[in-house]
Amino acid sequence: MKLSSVRRNPGSLAAETFIPGTLPTVHRFNLSPVTLPPGSQALRQEVRTFLTEELGAITPVERAKSWFGCDPAFSRKLGAQGWIGMTWPKEYGGHERPASDRYIVIEELLTAGAPVGAHWIADRQSGPLILNYGSPAAKAAFLPGIAAGEVYFCIGMSEPNAGSDLAAIRTTAERVDGGWTVNGAKLWTTNIAEAHQMIALVRTEKASETRHGGMSQLIIDLNAEGVTRNTIMDHQSERHFGEVHFDNVFVADDMVVGQPGAGWAQVNAELALERSGPERYLSSYRLYEELVLSHRGRHDPAIEQLVGELTARLWTLRQMSVSVSHSIGTGDNPTIEAAIVKDLGATLEQDLPALVQATIDDSSDAPERKDLLEVMEYLLLFSPIFSLRGGTREILRGIIAREIGLR
Ligand SMILES: Cc1cc2nc3c(=O)[nH]c(=O)nc-3n(C[C@H](O)[C@H](O)[C@H](O)COP(=O)(O)OP(=O)(O)OC[C@H]3O[C@@H](n4cnc5c(N)ncnc54)[C@H](O)[C@@H]3O)c2cc1C
Repeated sequence: MKLSSVRRNPGSLAAETFIPGTLPTVHRFNLSPVTLPPGSQALRQEVRTFLTEELGAITPVERAKSWFGCDPAFSRKLGAQGWIGMTWPKEYGGHERPASDRYIVIEELLTAGAPVGAHWIADRQSGPLILNYGSPAAKAAFLPGIAAGEVYFCIGMSEPNAGSDLAAIRTTAERVDGGWTVNGAKLWTTNIAEAHQMIALVRTEKASETRHGGMSQLIIDLNAEGVTRNTIMDHQSERHFGEVHFDNVFVADDMVVGQPGAGWAQVNAELALERSGPERYLSSYRLYEELVLSHRGRHDPAIEQLVGELTARLWTLRQMSVSVSHSIGTGDNPTIEAAIVKDLGATLEQDLPALVQATIDDSSDAPERKDLLEVMEYLLLFSPIFSLRGGTREILRGIIAREIGLR
């Protein structure tokens, strides 16, 4: 199947209410200006009020963890508010809200530094994938629990020796009576401790005509017999990702997502969901806020210039990300635009702590700078991963170059 022929099913999402603008498509990019509807302010205010009440006690560094911060109790509260699975059909626990409403909620959660990690992947990509390609049994089994903030997923793409070169995966699923037997391993799996299920990309055909053929996506119960999972400590002594081993794990037929063999095209459509949301340019946002808060009422030209530069870059990326969300909501597969948002977004997220460090006077131990310095220190260490997770900088640029005919 050609990648460009994969279109998400528009019928599965609520009607769009983004307001499209009129910029012509340049080359093959389509980043038309899109605005959020005027009525969105009320929802924004509702989310802000909720977050002020719920997040009062968490520290700036906790907030800086952004969507890697994990709190299942908070996820359940968001589910009860109707802010997970917002666009999905009501019959699956969704709320049939427009995609623009979801964008606003996500933006508010991230800028507030809410601990959304437990349900994040399930809401962002596993749920939509199941909605579009999953069996009736899978939809009924998982979507209501995801929307309630109770069922969590992780992404099983990378393996030892198969990261950027994802087609090199070696985890296999062999046909058995009523399903498949999975053997192999996945690596760097975010949310591995909290997740209940993984959507894994596996080889279901030993020999295929093309390198990208013969792969399928399976929903694997992480508590099933034969599954072993371990967290891996990162360079900041945190354990947000890990490895999973599969030893003759049985997966029933109705847990295949889409058609066996169509996994590669589906994964690429899924990556547009993974690469374009506000989380791809807001990971260092806490530091921007702390920079502004700690310099309120003081005239410092260097800080003012930096805040101006960062604001312009954030606003541009926001406009691009809203545009990609609109495209996804209308059923397009904006692979290239999502790659552009992720590459430019990760660059801003990594520049931000470095630029703040180069501009502020970090010898001052004035109390109003304590939070700024702590968040800066945290993000200086954390930010190198921003251009690795979800696809590295070089790989994204390769996708962009290929799509515009440069390679
Ligand atoms: C914090 C974090 C969370 C992650 N979460 C998940 C997850 O939930 N699920 C999951 O499946 N994976 C996850 N990953 C894995 C991530 O997708 C991979 O690390 C990434 O795709 C790179 O693969 P690799 O680590 O094998 O590096 P490699 O592919 O070995 O790359 C090493 C370097 O070589 C460069 N390179 C490789 N090939 C080329 C090429 N053809 N041209 C130019 N340069 C090239 C890369 O850009 C990189 O700089 C996560 C990674 C991190 C850091």
